[in-house]
Amino acid sequence: MAESRGDHDDAPSTRQIHHGYVPPAGFASVAPAMHRASTVLFKDVAAMRASSWLDKDTYTYGLHGTPTSFTLEARLATLEGGTHAMLVPSGLAAIALVDQSLLSSGDTVLIPSNAYFPNRSLATHELARWGIAHRFYDPMDVESLRAALGPDVALVWIEPPGSVTLEFPDLRALVRTVRAHAPRAVVALDNTWGSGIAFDAFDLDPGTSPPLAVDLTIHALTKYPSGGADVMMGSVVMRSQALHDQLALTHCRLGLGVGPNDVELVLRGLQTVALRYAAQDASARRIARWALGRKEFARVLHPATPGSPGHEHWAAQCRAAAGLATLAFDPAIAPERVDRFVDDLRLFGIGWSWAGPMSLAVPYRPDSGRVGAFAGTLVRLSIGLEDADDLIRDLEQALEKLAA
Ligand SMILES: *Cc1c(COP(=O)(O)O)cnc(C)c1O
Repeated sequence: MAESRGDHDDAPSTRQIHHGYVPPAGFASVAPAMHRASTVLFKDVAAMRASSWLDKDTYTYGLHGTPTSFTLEARLATLEGGTHAMLVPSGLAAIALVDQSLLSSGDTVLIPSNAYFPNRSLATHELARWGIAHRFYDPMDVESLRAALGPDVALVWIEPPGSVTLEFPDLRALVRTVRAHAPRAVVALDNTWGSGIAFDAFDLDPGTSPPLAVDLTIHALTKYPSGGADVMMGSVVMRSQALHDQLALTHCRLGLGVGPNDVELVLRGLQTVALRYAAQDASARRIARWALGRKEFARVLHPATPGSPGHEHWAAQCRAAAGLATLAFDPAIAPERVDRFVDDLRLFGIGWSWAGPMSLAVPYRPDSGRVGAFAGTLVRLSIGLEDADDLIRDLEQALEKLAA
């Protein structure tokens, strides 16, 4: 509605609200305008009745999208090679939306045993309570996935690499195994690590036709797309209109809107995502190489580093790696001493999440799930945008205290 519906007989308080606002024509700023709305006005009742929540050429209600959120959705679909995207308040909400949209009582969901812990926790608590079964499979053993598949399986999660242990699976073999043995199952990939940059989730084996693709990706925009450690958001991206509509209806019914200020922050961060990803990738590789030469570490878990679990799968399928590296301490070094090592770091913050400007370190004890496969305490490093030499010097001074 470009013009005012009020007229000069109306009181000033009424005219405040009905003041005509016309966006400036010819104001071609690089940054897209930020629009906020709960109410979106229709030109008449017929237009209101004809509107559809699923139609992204028109607007219905703030919860279901604004020009600002539709712009971010379109850019994310482009980044990840999909055609449709939807936004949710966090990466975890994206996982929950996929589960709630696609699973019914009696169905089974398969989850990698090294997956992001809250994904597994949702399955063992809420999904179990709702009559949805789950099985965990070893993503590094394709036979383990094949054995877990059955006619009850409606959804298979894939997460490359596993959270914390950074084991990189054979993505192509996992997807082909699901297609061969459970044609009805939807394949969902957590694309937070790859971010649309390290590999193409919708074209996993370039040159094959039709493309080898997952059905949908979720992405914690909280991580690389934001890049600022200052906003939470998640997305779901897919190529199928039917799958989009199924998820979009559940999305509407659950009321999963996102705020325009947060969308604006992610739109801003997204413009530099490739540069930041490359810089953090380069620093993480340098730190992983340095760590290989230190006797305190039994293993260096980093997909682009030779000797890391699944390195050959990473090399065959990826063109980049995120800025995460996990140091597996020698099991002879007690967990309490590793905790002190983390406390002694000067530049690495202690906190959750990753892909922000500040490097972070989190210790994981061998008794926490899949971490146990590596015997010693693991310290996951999220490499930020500091100078890599400074970070290495910081790690060295904390190791010196550990030795003392
Ligand atoms: C952080 C993360 C999520 C969840 O994202 P939030 O926005 O923090 O909820 C999901 N998957 C992976 C692999 C993550 O690292």
